[in-house]
Amino acid sequence: MSEFKKVAGLTGMKDTLPPESAHWERLEALVRDWLAAYGYQNMRTPVLEHTRLFTRGIGEVTDIVEKEMYSFVDPLNDERLTMRPEFTAGIVRSAIEQNFLYDRPRRIYAMGPVFRHERPQRGRYRQFHQIDVEALGFPGPDVDAELILMLARLWRLLGLSDIRLELNSLGQASERAAHRAALIAYLERHVDVLDEEARRRMHSNPLRVLDTKNPAMQDMANGAPRLFDFLGPESLAHYQGLCARLDDAGVAYTLNPRLVRGLDYYNLTVFEWVTDRLGAQGTVCGGGRYDGLIELLGGKPAPAVGFAIGMERLLDLWLQDAPPPTPDECQVYLVHQGDDGQRRAARLAEGLRDAGLRVLVHAGSTGFKSQFRRADASGAIAAVIVGGDELVSGAATVKWLRTEASGESQQESIAFDQLAQHLKQRI
Ligand code: ATP
Ligand code: MG
Repeated sequence: MSEFKKVAGLTGMKDTLPPESAHWERLEALVRDWLAAYGYQNMRTPVLEHTRLFTRGIGEVTDIVEKEMYSFVDPLNDERLTMRPEFTAGIVRSAIEQNFLYDRPRRIYAMGPVFRHERPQRGRYRQFHQIDVEALGFPGPDVDAELILMLARLWRLLGLSDIRLELNSLGQASERAAHRAALIAYLERHVDVLDEEARRRMHSNPLRVLDTKNPAMQDMANGAPRLFDFLGPESLAHYQGLCARLDDAGVAYTLNPRLVRGLDYYNLTVFEWVTDRLGAQGTVCGGGRYDGLIELLGGKPAPAVGFAIGMERLLDLWLQDAPPPTPDECQVYLVHQGDDGQRRAARLAEGLRDAGLRVLVHAGSTGFKSQFRRADASGAIAAVIVGGDELVSGAATVKWLRTEASGESQQESIAFDQLAQHLKQRI
């Protein structure tokens, strides 16, 4: 027993250990291949940014900026800093600052942790991970459709069914202004059913009032003027252009006129992929077009569209559908006896690794019995024994631990210099 007290981890921030961490790595590898198939390139930006990047980029009257950001004042220089609650603002900041945007449009992705101070529950954590994809400099709707088709492919690659696509169009600024006036008038007429948050937001961000999950406000929200009905011919053409391409590809969607998304910066296309199999936190992916953001953050105006996938929710779904096998620690486990045996085993192991095998050498000097127990637990296909007899004969004893790989004999003697080639043939 230690005389010191344990230091606990933070609420809502998870540790991921083996074997679960191996599922993460498999998912990440699959995701990188999927992104490469569409020509998306990786961009890595810092976790910490100036707070004002997010207040300006995400919007003052949003859940994230109002109550979810991890912000602090840097005591060294009094700067207000925030741990990124999403990727888009940082990516756009970087693209502007590095002059990355203007010679040609860019297809970019990022993957990693983001931070939001929310009430932790299944599918909702304070540090979680996103796959973030951004197409910068494309006016659409062709690229809007490309992004959605990409996502449909990802669900297929992961064998996920039961994820449905909801679409909406938020139109252009002038259309939103006309709708906003009508909506505020409507909210003022129904002020008696609005909760406190809705009353606070009804003039500053009335669209977000419709995004409410409060059951007592659903009738009010359903009856509110729909932004979709205020769209002019250009916005409608953009929306129809997207729908036509989704129809071409056989991707099903439903128009959800109440879908507004949590962030301020969206226009035209917005979408979410939703499932009923994750309990209350059913949105796996959200995205949309943000043609005004680059200019808002000080860049030369350029259109853009993107999405973010919640990786914890994606992994949860993936493991429900087709649980991947528990990954092994190695393919070959070397057991040995005596100091000379250990040193010979370590040299042999390097040779096996040269041949591309995944190899563990038992560490420490325990008896054969406990070494074999470790070999079994490691998931290895073969144990290689380097004891006194083997050192004398110059041949290792190979013991096949899983019958399907063993062929005829369970145990065989293989000369040290033949070992790599022999194992390679059978593993
Ligand atoms: P919600 O309405 O569930 O709060 P959001 O609109 O805040 O979602 P986005 O900002 O669009 O979410 O983030 C993209 C995705 O990240 C979400 O669709 C979801 O899958 C995931 N996500 C968001 N917040 C969390 C969280 N606290 N923990 C885990 N995943 C999250
Ligand atoms: Mg949220």
